[in-house]
Amino acid sequence: MAKEDLECSFCGRKKADTEILIAGLDAHICDRCIEQAYGIVVEETKQETKKELSAEFELRKPKAIKGFLDDYVIGQNYTKKVMSVAVYNHYKRLLQPNSDDDIEIQKSNIIMIGQTGTGKTLIAKTIARMLNVPLAIVDATVLTEAGYVGEDVESILTRLLQAADYNVEKAEQGIVFIDEIDKIARKSDNPSITRDVSGEGVQQGLLKLLEGTVVNVPPKGGRKHPDQKFIEVNTENILFIAGGAFDGIEKAIAKRLNMQAVGYSASKSDDAIDQENLLQYVIPKDLKDFGLIPEIIGRLPMLTYMSPLDKKALKAILTEPKNALIKQYTKLFEMDNISLEITEGALDYIVDKAVEYKLGARGLRSLCEAILTDAMYEFPDSDVTEFKLTKTYAEKALNKSTLKKLKAVS
Ligand code: ADP
Repeated sequence: MAKEDLECSFCGRKKADTEILIAGLDAHICDRCIEQAYGIVVEETKQETKKELSAEFELRKPKAIKGFLDDYVIGQNYTKKVMSVAVYNHYKRLLQPNSDDDIEIQKSNIIMIGQTGTGKTLIAKTIARMLNVPLAIVDATVLTEAGYVGEDVESILTRLLQAADYNVEKAEQGIVFIDEIDKIARKSDNPSITRDVSGEGVQQGLLKLLEGTVVNVPPKGGRKHPDQKFIEVNTENILFIAGGAFDGIEKAIAKRLNMQAVGYSASKSDDAIDQENLLQYVIPKDLKDFGLIPEIIGRLPMLTYMSPLDKKALKAILTEPKNALIKQYTKLFEMDNISLEITEGALDYIVDKAVEYKLGARGLRSLCEAILTDAMYEFPDSDVTEFKLTKTYAEKALNKSTLKKLKAVS
């Protein structure tokens, strides 16, 4: 066949009428048909992902989500409940068929207020693991407004892409946990003062990400560079969870509740107020007073709080979660055919030290390591088959270790 007689085997267009005609074994395809076919493939893959998601999703109603969280996170019932509903609604929104009505379900991004080490990151991680979606954990403090030293807000999505192995579709349904959101609060309560780069500028940058937009993401992160190829990421279906300690916000809450932060309640109606945990009364206005701009608050509509962890909770964290520390050490010893027994006294001692050193839940692991290192070093070469960890042993071991120096620092 003469070259000019060649035609697309799909649409019949002559070679002259096409931009490109690609030859196969005994057929040809033109550029337009390739484009069309590509569109079909993309659409089909999207439908498939939706179907896969919906199959998994049906298994997990809010109560089931909370049940999953209960296996890993101690206490924090209110946040777990809010989170379960938010996640359920988020994925319901994501799976909604393109309907003709004008009802558009809006995103339910979440903000968690609570001291460090109370389980904020743990909750985000557990949710991501349960849903099997990629998770990016970013620290708001490293973000700066474009043009300043630090990372552009787009770098958040670089992390998510990396977590999704650069599968854009997966990343677009992932979760982003922005830690220390309180650190980008506006420094002054007066919005008319010249913009401060570290705070408000970053908040402005985050806005468009939170509400849903297509962002050009530098695949390797860092600063945007004119020669760099970007990956387009649509943030419309990404669930954003923000967390922060908001140090001092209790005072504002107390003021609003018209009571004193410490001490006695001003009026009878305050009797019901739990002064030990004022965070539970947090409202969006408190965040605004703290320095978050109203637009950011509006895009993080689910507001929840974390309770401080008391001794009872710390002890439960040591022993109860599915992968509780004590269960992990028991398994480690078991692998050397040693059965580990930890007395209540030893557990209480570890908890007391975590509180005393102001280490919270995060310190439990370092305390356990400090106490058990000698045993884990010596026993595998010995004929020990049973090891009872008592308070006396724990005390001795800790006194030997460098960890007790922490006490001087804290
Ligand atoms: P945050 O993000 O609030 O600063 P994390 O979630 O990083 O705190 O908690 C630090 C560690 O402490 C976790 O990895 C976990 O081992 C433990 N932890 C904290 N809170 C809880 C909790 N409520 N239940 C179980 N473990 C917890």
